[in-house]
Amino acid sequence: MAIAKGYAATDASKPLTPFTFERREPNDDDVVIAVQYCGLCHSDIHQARNEWGNSKYPMVPGHEVAGVVSAIGSKVTKFKIGDHVGVGCFVNSCVGLPERNVDIEQYLPGIVQTYNDVEADGTTPTYGGYSDSIVVKEGYVLSFPENIPLDSGAPLLCAGITLYSPLAHWKAGPGKKVAIVGMGGLGHMGVKIGAAMGADITVLSQSLSKKEDGLRLGAKDYYATSDAETFKKLAGTFDLIICTVGVAIDWNAYLGLLKVDGTMVLVGAPEHPAPVHAFSVIAGRKALAGSGIGSIKETQEMLDFCGKHNIVSDIEMINMQDINEAYERVLKSDVRYRFVIDIASLA
Ligand code: NAP
Ligand code: ZN
Repeated sequence: MAIAKGYAATDASKPLTPFTFERREPNDDDVVIAVQYCGLCHSDIHQARNEWGNSKYPMVPGHEVAGVVSAIGSKVTKFKIGDHVGVGCFVNSCVGLPERNVDIEQYLPGIVQTYNDVEADGTTPTYGGYSDSIVVKEGYVLSFPENIPLDSGAPLLCAGITLYSPLAHWKAGPGKKVAIVGMGGLGHMGVKIGAAMGADITVLSQSLSKKEDGLRLGAKDYYATSDAETFKKLAGTFDLIICTVGVAIDWNAYLGLLKVDGTMVLVGAPEHPAPVHAFSVIAGRKALAGSGIGSIKETQEMLDFCGKHNIVSDIEMINMQDINEAYERVLKSDVRYRFVIDIASLA
């Protein structure tokens, strides 16, 4: 077994610290990846701090993993050594089911998350991309288009697909008015991808401090939710609202911004529940929905879409040693717009 170097959370209340561990022996159908960059998703913080109540320690977070193939199993056909590849939020799916459902595998039982989970054998822990190597079954490895750099491309593997999937599912496109709530890691990808799909994008942010960036990334409008006038002015405006906020907010106020038959999709996953009033959806036959990442098939489709439209994430590169400070900055919405860890800093 190969020894990997990384950073781990060992407890919900302690900072992440250096961690050395064994990566599993590659099987015939595995790809071994030398990790070069890993994005910092807010879900890493929720899980490192056990905010969803399902954390297993030690935990090596990281599910926006970008690197280069360093070895392949004898039955691997899709990849060769040197290829630029990525790993997103899961490394196996439909385990125990009769067959893999490639369209909605992320919603079915038998999914194996990239970290904070166990492999199909039920015992081997999965460790994520805050580390210098990872071993993943070929069918769960993504190909980066040639024009997408690994550093600014890494966040596409979670932030990108998490916005692409609901934008595609609810048919964001020309003539559709779409609001993105929260201009963070997920939100800024939603602006870029939604605009590339041809939708009319509005950002709803706590303040106007990032307005210039929002408009530069493709939004037509940008409003501050701290201003009560925003909710009056925009009442009944949107076909689709995607909420990326990771803390409980008043969803009723945002439902008021939908047109008749509009849909608000939650992708942000707060620790605490938020009450929804029946009249917030009854009036206007509105829908409150949710969406989680995307299948491997859809994630590859998203990467190819981003390649075609030259879409990457706006990133701030950090060293692995800066991870705890970066977590605090994400909590203060002080990142433009995704931290990416330079894994070379582990050496
Ligand atoms: P992030 O970079 O922290 O972005 C969240 C944004 O929400 C912030 O930038 C901020 O935008 C806004 N916000 C923060 N606190 C707020 C408050 N008190 N009131 C109103 N708005 C607030 O986080 P992220 O990585 O994009 O992740 C966002 C959430 O999505 C997390 O809960 C994460 O776990 C979840 N997630 C879900 C999926 C899925 O598949 N459903 C996938 C990945 C992540 P402004 O400064 O513009 O207001
Ligand atoms: Zn994520």
